[in-house]
Amino acid sequence: MGAHVVDHPLARAKLTALRDAATSLKDFRRTLHELSLLIGYEALRDLTEEPITVETPLRPCPGVRIPDPIFLFPILRAGLGMAEALSELLPESPIGHIGMFRDEVTLEPHPYYLRVPPGIASAHVVCVDPMLATGNSAVSAMDQLKKAGARKLRLVCIVGCPQGVERMRTAHPDVPIHLAAIDEGLNEHGYIVPGLGDAGDRYYGT
Ligand code: URA
Repeated sequence: MGAHVVDHPLARAKLTALRDAATSLKDFRRTLHELSLLIGYEALRDLTEEPITVETPLRPCPGVRIPDPIFLFPILRAGLGMAEALSELLPESPIGHIGMFRDEVTLEPHPYYLRVPPGIASAHVVCVDPMLATGNSAVSAMDQLKKAGARKLRLVCIVGCPQGVERMRTAHPDVPIHLAAIDEGLNEHGYIVPGLGDAGDRYYGT
C-alpha cells in the first residue's frame, strides 16, 4: 500500500491497548512511548553505517557508527509524545518543531510554527505524528521541511488510513511512511476509524 506496517505481535498488542477507550491516561502514555520505539526502530533500519574499530578490554573489535545526524520533528501537539520516546533511543538528536492546527470544517492544516535545528540538509529527518488521517498535515509538514532544506525524510505514525497514505504517496513519493496499522478510513469529522480517537487529547488527558 506504499507504507511500511510494523509486523510484530508486540506492536499489535500495544496498538490494541491504545485503541481501547478504557485504557488509562498513564497506560496510554506509557504504551504510546513503547509503540513509538518499536515503529521508530523499524523506520531507522536502513540508516547508513560507517565501519569503525574500538578497543574492547581484550582486543580491537570492528563495529559501526552512524555518521549522519538524525533530527526528530514532532508535529504539535500529538507528535510530542512520540518524539520524547524516540529521543530515548536517539539522545543526541536535535528536536525541531512543526506547529499546525487543523480547521475542523475544511480539515485543512494551518501552519503557525516551524523551528529547524541547523544542519538539516545532511540529517536524516524523522517527522512524527501519531495519526495519518487526511494526510493534509503530513503533506504540509513535508513541504515545510523540504523548503527548510531537508533531503532525507521519513514519516513515523501510529495509525494511518488509505486516504492519508495515498495523499502522501502522491505528494511526496520519496518519503517512506512507517506505522503500526492502516485502518479502514475516515469518518465525517476526519477521524480515523476504528482508530484510537484524538491522539493529543488521549495523551494529554484533555
Ligand atoms: N487526529 C487524531 O488525533 N485522530 C484521528 O483519528 C485523526 C486525526
